[in-house]
Amino acid sequence: MSDIKDIIEEIKSRCDIANVISGYINIKPSGSNYKGLCPFHGEKTPSFYINTSKQIYKCFGCGEGGDVINFVMKIENLDFMDAVKSLANTCGMEINTNVDEATKEIMKKSKKFQDIHVEAARFYFSNLIKSKNPGYEYLRKRGLDDKIIKKFGLGYSLDSWDSLINYLISIGYKSEDLIESGLVGYKSESKKIYDKFRNRVMFPIFDYRGNVIGFGGRVLDDSLPKYLNSPDTLIFNKRQNLYGLNFARKEIKDRSIILVEGYMDLISLYQYGIKNVVATLGTALTDGQGSLIKRYADTAIISYDSDEAGIKASMRAIDILTKLGVNVKVLNLKECKDPDEFIRKYGVSGFEKEIQNSINYIKYKIDNLKRNFNIEKDEDRVKFAKEASKIIKQIKSPVEVDYYTKYLSQQIDISIESIKKEIYGKYYKESKNKNNKYIYNKKEQKIIEKPKAIEKGKLLVEENLIKIMLESKKYREIILFKINEEDFLEKDSKEIVSWLIKNKDLDKITIDKIKSLNICEEYIKGLESISLDNLDLNNTKNIDDIIRNIKKNSINEKINLLLREQIDIENNKDIKDAKEVDSKIMEIALKIVELRRELQRL
Ligand SMILES: [Zn+2]
Repeated sequence: MSDIKDIIEEIKSRCDIANVISGYINIKPSGSNYKGLCPFHGEKTPSFYINTSKQIYKCFGCGEGGDVINFVMKIENLDFMDAVKSLANTCGMEINTNVDEATKEIMKKSKKFQDIHVEAARFYFSNLIKSKNPGYEYLRKRGLDDKIIKKFGLGYSLDSWDSLINYLISIGYKSEDLIESGLVGYKSESKKIYDKFRNRVMFPIFDYRGNVIGFGGRVLDDSLPKYLNSPDTLIFNKRQNLYGLNFARKEIKDRSIILVEGYMDLISLYQYGIKNVVATLGTALTDGQGSLIKRYADTAIISYDSDEAGIKASMRAIDILTKLGVNVKVLNLKECKDPDEFIRKYGVSGFEKEIQNSINYIKYKIDNLKRNFNIEKDEDRVKFAKEASKIIKQIKSPVEVDYYTKYLSQQIDISIESIKKEIYGKYYKESKNKNNKYIYNKKEQKIIEKPKAIEKGKLLVEENLIKIMLESKKYREIILFKINEEDFLEKDSKEIVSWLIKNKDLDKITIDKIKSLNICEEYIKGLESISLDNLDLNNTKNIDDIIRNIKKNSINEKINLLLREQIDIENNKDIKDAKEVDSKIMEIALKIVELRRELQRL
């Protein structure tokens, strides 16, 4: 563990605060939290509270508060490093106590900066809620309610040069530290220090663990800059952080994430219940941020502003994310200028619909490229075709190449053959027989012609899994959690699995029971001949491998059927309209693309 923040975080996550504090004072449960008599000031009725979900304590009598490290520092009267060592000891964690003096100094300082930021966030928050102020009015006008303001810890910096300084100094911080923490500025001519954030709505910036590491402040009038962010400091690097990731990472389903530009977009979406959202911090997406996204998601849906700057930023984000292997889509905001405006106008169902309809980045790139040309003019049309072909050339999947080639051909009325020549150069051979267009080899074509009989190997792997489910109730439950009858190819397999789902609570199921299901004799013979003796079921990887194979087979079969369907459509003389043929084929191609993606995810 070289990262200092990681060490601190590890200590905090291992040493439960209630557990540690109960070693010093008596605490009693109070709801999901605890309370007790404050050890730091004399009192008869408890005003000392422990919040277990946030892992912090706070005394409402004397104001003392902080995390588990602060508590130990205060009660044992230890300096930061010794408190860390003491806690590491209690929770049986080995940390290298031989770190050199310089590292110790950095650890101490970064902890201090974190504390300063927590205090500043509290200060800004109390400014916002304790009396009437333009910051609160602004947020209400933008449609945020009190609950969401509290959730994101939003605040207000007073229209004053020194209110934050005065507060932080009054609770014991030194001005040098305030300057270095980035919240306070210093004028060398007059040797005066001043609050950097004045008369702004304050957005605390969290790291992915939820620590406040910086602020973004938005003006309330027309002055510039509209957004002011904390400078990079020991604890804050805006190129390596994504706003909202601390919330979003718990909400990500299907490894898909929405990327927006601004704080307000993110908070607004969150208030409406769209929570898998992160925002860049006033910069174009960086490689570091891209890698952070890749850690949590395979698909990123870009939802930037619809203006020129937003399109430019989207293009850059596409390049960074696709290079990292993230599947990128772009959301269509219709006539709205940003996601905030969109969700207020169309609601959550409208937004979700656009997520479903969000377009692949290739199409987005082609569409945007097209805006630069007047395709009514032949010359421009050719130029556009050449440029767009370069975009298509980057695609690896042949089905996708076909799809976007057709798309491009429709846009500009240049034949698919010509575009393909442009993409593949002289190596492209024109296919004389149109009917073969979607067949990649003859062998595959054979399989397509006979969708009924499934191959022996494929049948065997299905029978294997069914046999396991018959013999073991325990594995049956696990398996049925991961797979259902639709994933099987063979009709008899489907039949048995759907019966098993209904009867999954039976202990052992004999083959006789299965026979009564009208299963063909061959299949039963196959089942009977399978022995599981050589399969180590305790190794779940073995079962997972079987499940993956079955799913793979069925997806491949679906793809084959779709390819066959494409050929049928091409051969169908009844459909006269070429456009209709094209659009049907494109529709199928898209389904194939999705299935291929599904295959890759297995
Ligand atoms: Zn107290």
